[in-house]
This record gives sequence, C-alpha cells and structure tokens, in this order.
Amino acid sequence: MEITKIIEKFNKFFKKKKIEEVNIVDYNELEKFDKELAKELIDDPEDVIKAAELSVEKTVRFKNIPNKVSLKDITCKDLEKFVCVEGKLRGAEKIKPYLIHAKFECPSCGNIINRIQFNRLEEPTRCSCGRRGRFRVISTEFIDSQILTILESGVMPNKIKTEILLKSDLCSLEYLNISENPKIAMVNGILRANPELTITGRKKKGFDFSIDVNYIEVRDDGI
Ligand SMILES: [Zn+2]
Repeated sequence: MEITKIIEKFNKFFKKKKIEEVNIVDYNELEKFDKELAKELIDDPEDVIKAAELSVEKTVRFKNIPNKVSLKDITCKDLEKFVCVEGKLRGAEKIKPYLIHAKFECPSCGNIINRIQFNRLEEPTRCSCGRRGRFRVISTEFIDSQILTILESGVMPNKIKTEILLKSDLCSLEYLNISENPKIAMVNGILRANPELTITGRKKKGFDFSIDVNYIEVRDDGI
C-alpha cells in the first residue's frame, strides 16, 4: 500500500478521536475499521506506524498485536514484522541518548540537508550542487532510549533472551530497580537483526535478534 493511502486511512480512523501526546490504538479496533490496513501493520510496521504518526503528528502505539511469538521460536521469517512477545524483564541499562535527526550544511554551496538517523550519524551521500561527503553537522536531535533484556519464562529460564529497545516515553528509571522488583512484560515491537556486541561494545561477527518496542505492558512477577 502507498504511504499516502495509509495516511488517508488513518486520517479517517482518527477523525472522531481526541488526539493526545501518545495515542494507544487497539489492534482489534483497527482490524474492524480496515482489515487490509491491520494486516499491513503486522507485515510492514515501520511504514504503517510512521504513516499513523504523520496522520496525527503525535506518537501512536498499538496494543493487542495478535502475532504472538515465543522468544525461543523467533526466526528470520519474523524479521521487520510486528511481533508480540512475553517474558521476564532483566538487566535494564541506564537511559541513553538516541540520535533521530541531523542537519548538515554543504561547505561548497551553503545548502542545508536534513537526514533522519538511526542512532548513527550518517552523512548525506551528495548535495544538489554535486559535492560528495565532508558535510558540516549543524544540529542534531536526540530522544531517550533504554535497553532491557527479556527472558523466556518457563522452560530453560535465563538461556533464551532477547534485547529490547525502549524509546522516549517508554523509558523509565524504575526499570533500574528490576532485580529487587521483578517484572513480567508483554512487548509489541518490530523484530530487528542487530550486530552482536561484546561486553566492551565491540562488534562480534554475528547478529542477534532485538525488538524495537512500540508498546509495553508490565506487571509484577508474583514469585
Ligand atoms: Zn552543496
């Protein structure tokens, strides 16, 4: 589906709703509104979430995602799809800045170039004047981010785990107390493949799955 068509559909979907800073959409309601759009959300969450957010110019999160996968059953067929996983939360890291946007200036012609970033400063490849590379960074925009680990509960505890990435309002200092106050989480997010890192942050040769979280529901682990 074309992104402009998806935005149009969301304009209709949100028409009579009160728009907040963060808007939580129930998947079941979206499916009732438009089955094709709901299916597209599962298959291509990156573009559909972006379109929903462009439609209301605010954050949009989706709950009750039906594509439930167990951490031990995750495979590459789910990559870049919207998945729902449940498990125990462990190992929260401190909140860190995540780069989302940078503005560059071309030193040859003074042209300003905007670029969306995915936590790594990437220069534009070329300017309309023909210059390639060595652009001057004139501004950057960061949001909060936080990495947690989610563990399969039940069989083989502590063996099967995946990193999850929380951004902006999803980050919380409370996660830092998780060892004293264990939690179970239901996480909806986009499954990614990221280079594995060693403890010093150096890249290992392989990749591992991680989840770019869109929505998280947390409850106390009653044990
Ligand atoms: Zn230029």
